[in-house]
Amino acid sequence: MATALQGYQFALDPTPRKQGSLASHTGAARFAYNWGLELVTTRLDRRAAGQDVQVPWTLAELRWEWNRAKDEVAPWWAENSKEAYSSGLDALARALKNWSDSRNGHRKGRPVGFPRRKKKWRARVACRFTTGQIKVLPDRKHVQLPRIGVVKTHESTRKLARRLEQGTARILAATISRRADRWFVSFTVEVLKAIPTSNGKPSVVGVDVGIRHLTVLSTGRTVANPRALEQSLRKLRRLNRQLARRRLGSRRRNRTRRRLARVHARAANLRRDALHKLTTELATRYGAVVVEHLHVAGMVRNRRLAGAISDTGMAELRRLLGYKTIWYGSRLVVADRFFPSSKTCSECGWVRAKLTLAERTFACEACGLMVDRDLNAARNLAKLVQSVAQSGWETQTARGADRKPQPAGQVAMKREAGTGSCLGEPGTVQP
Ligand SMILES: [Zn+2]
Repeated sequence: MATALQGYQFALDPTPRKQGSLASHTGAARFAYNWGLELVTTRLDRRAAGQDVQVPWTLAELRWEWNRAKDEVAPWWAENSKEAYSSGLDALARALKNWSDSRNGHRKGRPVGFPRRKKKWRARVACRFTTGQIKVLPDRKHVQLPRIGVVKTHESTRKLARRLEQGTARILAATISRRADRWFVSFTVEVLKAIPTSNGKPSVVGVDVGIRHLTVLSTGRTVANPRALEQSLRKLRRLNRQLARRRLGSRRRNRTRRRLARVHARAANLRRDALHKLTTELATRYGAVVVEHLHVAGMVRNRRLAGAISDTGMAELRRLLGYKTIWYGSRLVVADRFFPSSKTCSECGWVRAKLTLAERTFACEACGLMVDRDLNAARNLAKLVQSVAQSGWETQTARGADRKPQPAGQVAMKREAGTGSCLGEPGTVQP
């Protein structure tokens, strides 16, 4: 048995009064964040001007300053749980740390800017509780949160409630958030589960995320987008065009914006649901699942709607497979970032010099193969692992991927961290 962190998210059905209380808490978190940021910048300025002042940087320091100032700057502070202010200050402390780590070269990836004020309509609305009365009620229809009290859930909490009743789960934190007019609670839960070392399946599957389909598997199976998702995507395109025509600051623009946000949230939910079902199936039916390396920096640049959606689909697929392959005893193999999965012929290995996104079919000039582009890519991914298996899978994994000369020269073994969060938003689960 091993412990893993898992997220459980439930949509809420709060009464108008509870809605007010939820909004008050997320607002308080934002207020504390902005207050702390203001304090930090003024102190930094004073220090730059030669004064000897302390600049609060950690959560403990920020909290100390807050407790000294709260009666004056926020005389209403007692209306909300103290966790709300802590949540905002914690987010600030992490943002400050990311910034200084990035400046000192302790952090990989794109440079992180200095934290900015959280604006009311732009910032993610969220508040995290780590102590106090956090409960899933036995009727499986309500949750209890500090100060906010009992809130009705939109769906049954049975999946989590069952584990809590069996004593195989422990709630570490709860985060409330709002997306497109709907409130959610997500629990960070430590779960105890039996993790098999292998599922005993020899088969390998390559997965490519398509633009027109949800995914294409190397077995030739195309997993279509759910119909409801296709409808949402069409609606999304239409609303996007509509928004572009609306005058800035007009009431109609605001209405379109809100409708767009709702459709967006629905499309994301439908897609996530479909990906959950697919990844569970992949991790239980195959011994190894091979996916493409993600170009994270490139993803951000992709401004085309279809492209952006397939990119986020790929990222989500990777994340879900990362922990599900561990749970179910299969393996996740990530192809090297320079492996030309879509440009290589899956039949003879010939590599095309250039393949544009518009070309939907792969045509091989060496052996004459004509095949769907995504299927060709998926087959190439699966092939990577077949060759690893032939050269002795066990020794290879035992020794680590980088020591042994690799058959295709392209495989990077990677087992994602075992503490993947299931539905948690990025940034809500602390390492
Ligand atoms: Zn060929």
